[in-house]
Amino acid sequence: MSDLKFCQGPECHTYHTKDRLKGTKPNKTYQTRRRSSMYYGGGNFCDMRCQNDWFQKFGDRAINYFGRTTEVKHLTEDNAWLKDYDYNWRDDNNPKSNYRFVNSITKEQRPLTEAQYNDSNYTLNTGE
Ligand SMILES: [Zn+2]
Repeated sequence: MSDLKFCQGPECHTYHTKDRLKGTKPNKTYQTRRRSSMYYGGGNFCDMRCQNDWFQKFGDRAINYFGRTTEVKHLTEDNAWLKDYDYNWRDDNNPKSNYRFVNSITKEQRPLTEAQYNDSNYTLNTGE
């Protein structure tokens, strides 16, 4: 019970649904949803409406804070490596591994270990 997360939607408490109405009579109020897990916005929002409300209110500021795209980006051989899991693919040197890099431009494939696959910082891409 103590591990419930609060929906981050700024308007969540304003929506009239039965599950938001909490408390004891006569002091019931519509309240921000709390759940052990949520499926929207990286686990931060109870539904798509709350996720959209957040973006409507804070999205511009968040984009400016983290860096607004102001130039065209180009997909090239150097940044086209994608991690992939394919049950039918085998690394000849490591026959139990089904993990690989695939270059979406050249179609070249290179073996990848499971640890590298799960490491979000590990990449063959250079540049953006
Ligand atoms: Zn919500």
